[in-house]
Amino acid sequence: MAAAAREALGLSAIAPLKPEQYATHVGVEILTIDEMGLSEESRCQLLEVDKGSWSGMAIRESGLIGVLVNPTHSPERQASTMMHELSHVVLKHVPVRVDVSSAGILLVSEYSEDDEEEANWLSGALLLPRDALKHYRDKNWSPTKIMAHFGVSQDMYNWRIRMTGVDVQMRRSRASV
Ligand SMILES: [Zn+2]
Repeated sequence: MAAAAREALGLSAIAPLKPEQYATHVGVEILTIDEMGLSEESRCQLLEVDKGSWSGMAIRESGLIGVLVNPTHSPERQASTMMHELSHVVLKHVPVRVDVSSAGILLVSEYSEDDEEEANWLSGALLLPRDALKHYRDKNWSPTKIMAHFGVSQDMYNWRIRMTGVDVQMRRSRASV
């Protein structure tokens, strides 16, 4: 699914894919807090009081789907959140529960463990494909350089390294030379 998206967008298998670009591709709008038409009190709740308790959410309204991410987080974390929420949408996940915050505005969707895992897999593959990781590790790019190139966080990088087994494989092939 991740490879097909790159191909459809005319990107190589190892090219960075911006969440905004993917959102357009799958017909999902990226929303900003300003576009939500919230009261000053609600804005304050989301951006100050509750800012540590939410990362992102998918909002569905009359056939349109939008994704809102927490703008107080780092751009790299926002990218992870955006891709994660987009993955839930394209995988057609249905929340097992939807909660409204104490302020009555924050809609928090809860998905099953399986759906969360699946969304993490897809978002990871979209942001940092295994082939790309292998390509740049083979070229001896530092983790910092790779993270900057793909606009991903240290957490995302570490997780992809672990899940794809790229470094383990490199060590093994070096050991066998
Ligand atoms: Zn999720």
